[in-house]
Amino acid sequence: MRFVSTRGDTAPVSLSQALRLGVAPDGGLFMPEAIPLHEPSKFAAGRPLAAFAADWLRPFFDGDPLAGELDAICAEAFTFPVPLVAPFGDDVGLRALELFHGPTGAFKDFGARFLMACFDRLAGEEPLTVLAATSGDTGGAVGCAAVGRRSSRGVILYPRGRVSPFQERQLTCWGANVTAVEVDGDFDDCQALVKAAFADPQLSAAHRLTSANSINLGRLLPQVAYCAHAAFEAAALGGDGRPGFLIPSGNLGHGFALLLARAMGAPVGPVVLATNANRTLLDWHQSGRYAARPSIATLANAMDVGAPSNFERVAALGDGAAEVTVELVDDEAIRHRIAADYRENGYVWCPHSAIAAEAWRRLAAPARDERLWVAAATAHPFKFAEIVEPLIGREIEPSPALAAIDDRPTAKQQIAARMPELAALLDQQRVAA
Ligand SMILES: *Cc1c(COP(=O)(O)O)cnc(C)c1O
Repeated sequence: MRFVSTRGDTAPVSLSQALRLGVAPDGGLFMPEAIPLHEPSKFAAGRPLAAFAADWLRPFFDGDPLAGELDAICAEAFTFPVPLVAPFGDDVGLRALELFHGPTGAFKDFGARFLMACFDRLAGEEPLTVLAATSGDTGGAVGCAAVGRRSSRGVILYPRGRVSPFQERQLTCWGANVTAVEVDGDFDDCQALVKAAFADPQLSAAHRLTSANSINLGRLLPQVAYCAHAAFEAAALGGDGRPGFLIPSGNLGHGFALLLARAMGAPVGPVVLATNANRTLLDWHQSGRYAARPSIATLANAMDVGAPSNFERVAALGDGAAEVTVELVDDEAIRHRIAADYRENGYVWCPHSAIAAEAWRRLAAPARDERLWVAAATAHPFKFAEIVEPLIGREIEPSPALAAIDDRPTAKQQIAARMPELAALLDQQRVAA
């Protein structure tokens, strides 16, 4: 299997090269040259996720140096449960796919751990520098997945004042080979800095830069696998065998991963991309034209994205992006959904997951009732305790992993959103290492 750039100006590369490069040299994103098709009858429900994932992803690794390592990589990355729970009881046709039982309490743990497991097997002598921009959750997951590894060091850029107190703690608590950098700007500024760093061949080579954002295919592959796994599990629960999915979307990595899983043969029905008040995707869906906008801050901060980088990949899917709708849920509706679902059913959503739950409520009754729907529950509500607790009127228990983070010391660097400052910081960090 070979991988090509969405912009068509890069010679095809192997999977290892695509992971190592992060972004294609022409500025585009890597896509598989052809979408592999699975025979759905070979993928029954009830299989453990790690084994399922390795089989689902095998075509992407075909002919790559990492092919022989795929089972081990999946065994390393998929070590925590992904329950499909019935938040409103078995009789109501909504399931929550709880993706937050990993070490940093968000689905980003899958991608970060999978990617780092790949880097461990690719790095060679000198460590890679994993440069990541985060709107809140990626950075913590990448830091946690990178800390203590010899193959990589992590440099994580996050927007000042835009992440929750717990998220900041989780970004800044790793130390050792992980550096947290607070940028005076928003997430799109952080993302632009990362892209600019990759676009500088000298800087990129000197630091062996690579990306751990969802622009890197290695972040998305494990998501393709768990989306497919969840689809088979949900399909086996009844309905018409093609469950619908509601995906809280920001940078559109998750949404793309689900659409790719569907294009490969996973039993996925209609897909709702649910966004916060950042309306780039809604405008695209309504007008057919894509125009990036400045991002605005919302309660679901990991989705505060005005220029979703994976849009390019979704567009490249062509027909694969059929049966997709967009639902916009503003802060007031997020608050209402968290409070109402707790009061009526005792289930606690994080602000991102509440967007998916609200999008389900807004489906027209026939569409809602004709099939089972799966809402991606993308983060543990404890990560957003200062938002959620006042709405539900009680304290949220952290998982043991999240509680442990509260005890770690923190440290950060600070820069303006300017390339020379990032370059200087990278040099200085390398001398220190
Ligand atoms: C990153 C994130 C999202 C958005 O996912 P994308 O792949 O960027 O669309 C949603 N919810 C949470 C909790 C996240 O951390």
